[in-house]
Amino acid sequence: MHQPVRHDEQELARAIAAGARRRPEQAFGHYFEGTRASCALGAAYEGMYRLPEEAGQILPRRLERLFDCLEGTVRRCPEAGCRKSLILAALIVHLNDDHQWTRERIAVWLEPTPHAPADAPPAGDPPPAGS
Ligand SMILES: [Zn+2]
Repeated sequence: MHQPVRHDEQELARAIAAGARRRPEQAFGHYFEGTRASCALGAAYEGMYRLPEEAGQILPRRLERLFDCLEGTVRRCPEAGCRKSLILAALIVHLNDDHQWTRERIAVWLEPTPHAPADAPPAGDPPPAGS
């Protein structure tokens, strides 16, 4: 199954990458934790908006209006052995919380390089972040 990369998925991937740079830690189960952590969707939100440092109470409500693909696209989970198919917003949360993918990895998965088939297995994990 080949689907063209939708423009808003590229934008979403870039927003996640930009948001991830603003908070060095990854949150699981919450959009934001304290001042230093965000999950993939929290990062996407922050990539689009400037947020106060203390973002713990902010719920990214309008995200699906910024990114059509979040509600309008169903994707198979890319994790080997996992057979879930979810709308993109739920799948991003699933990858973040259940498989604990890094935000950067989710962003790369969202925006495959033009020559790689979208359904090819991932080439490999990104190098582990320095601790
Ligand atoms: Zn999965």
